[in-house]
Amino acid sequence: MNRVVVLGGGESGVGTAVLATIKGHEVFLSDSNMVTDQARELLEKYDIPFEEGGHTRDKILNASVVVKSPGIPDTVPIVEELISNNVPVISEIEFAGRYDKSKKICVTGSNGKTTTASIIYFLLKNAGLNVGLAGNIGQSYAFQVATCNYEYYVLELSSFQLEGMYDFKADIAVLLNITPDHLDRYNNQMENYIKAKFRITQNMSADDCFIFCADDEVSISHLNQIVLHAKQLPFSQQKEVEEGAFVKDEKMHVNYVDREYQMFLNELSLQGKHNVYNSMAAAITGKVLDIDNEVLRESLSSFQGVEHRMEKVLKVKNVLYINDSKATNVNSTWYALESMTTPVVWIAGGKDKGNEYEPLFELVKERVRAIICLGADNTKLHKVFGGMVDNMYDAKSAKEAVEIAYNIAQPGDTVLLSPACASFDLFKNFEERGRLFKEAVQKL
Ligand code: ADP
Repeated sequence: MNRVVVLGGGESGVGTAVLATIKGHEVFLSDSNMVTDQARELLEKYDIPFEEGGHTRDKILNASVVVKSPGIPDTVPIVEELISNNVPVISEIEFAGRYDKSKKICVTGSNGKTTTASIIYFLLKNAGLNVGLAGNIGQSYAFQVATCNYEYYVLELSSFQLEGMYDFKADIAVLLNITPDHLDRYNNQMENYIKAKFRITQNMSADDCFIFCADDEVSISHLNQIVLHAKQLPFSQQKEVEEGAFVKDEKMHVNYVDREYQMFLNELSLQGKHNVYNSMAAAITGKVLDIDNEVLRESLSSFQGVEHRMEKVLKVKNVLYINDSKATNVNSTWYALESMTTPVVWIAGGKDKGNEYEPLFELVKERVRAIICLGADNTKLHKVFGGMVDNMYDAKSAKEAVEIAYNIAQPGDTVLLSPACASFDLFKNFEERGRLFKEAVQKL
């Protein structure tokens, strides 16, 4: 029996505490903030000692192992002290992985994780496999390992989760792309962020598969610098690959050993260049797991998308409203604008994480009729785009933004909420931003 201390009482922390308790460890959970009623209920149900509103050093420093929530940076004093005392600090995924014998399909990247993990999960379920979905989505992995019995897991892994992983091994790892995001947590060192993402490949052997984007220069250049034992399966929209997936004549071609799959891009239920990548990654996974081509086709042509990701809300007076509130960086907004086929009224802005907007200039000049800035401080957007787009407006709420959009949009336009910024200046999170946007649209 070990003393397992859990730092952070969110979804993953509480799940870890439950799993550690079930596995017979002595457990203590500590959160510097107050925990939610739901977390409290679960901790009490499993009789798990915990504290909130601060950390008691003595109850933490005597741990055999500490499981830290991905939201807590290494620079927090208690974590620094643990590290200097050589107490192992690991992530929830590392801890739960020790008790999980399932086949693990892990998805990471700067953008597209939730979408791709959800497509793969949908595909495996349709193929009749006994599969769970976890990571940054829904119920925590640890809680599911404690209470369910899946033969497969699809895990969405952020770089923060990956940082605390050491012995964990993915059977299939998917790395979608690497673009600057969260650099504030990495001392502005892109190299550290890339290394964290590549941890998804650690411990992999020749029987495992690494699925990655051959069009992503950052991934490729780092891949060339490391030794990787796993089988490499690239996907590309720019060139043909022998094994993996590529696009030719408006068709996706997938090859794995002697297994083949082809599908027209216009059959995919999720449209846009980014979703071609996501779908290719899912299709390769499907072929590695030997899923039937018919199941693949049915799944990729009927997957309904995930809320707040290019979600079509409603058409009002022949204007389509799209909720892409999850686009919290420039890269994801680039893909949103790129997929537009009509003039756009673009709702953008929020908490800027040091954005460089240049990559958007061409698309904005070409497709954007007006910009509605939805942020507490819109100065930067005005400065950057003021000379490019004739009509710029300011809104302080989702409702106000939608009302302005309604008044200026022409029939045939698209009103696109794809902020390229975080939401914390005006909203609790991107979900709230998206939800309020949708509510306002529904009231038009
Ligand atoms: P994540 O979980 O990595 O944040 P999501 O699937 O939630 O990714 O999508 C986040 C945003 O990125 C959405 O706005 C979505 O439209 C966009 N997006 C989805 N897939 C990709 C991709 N492969 N490349 C770039 N942007 C993407």
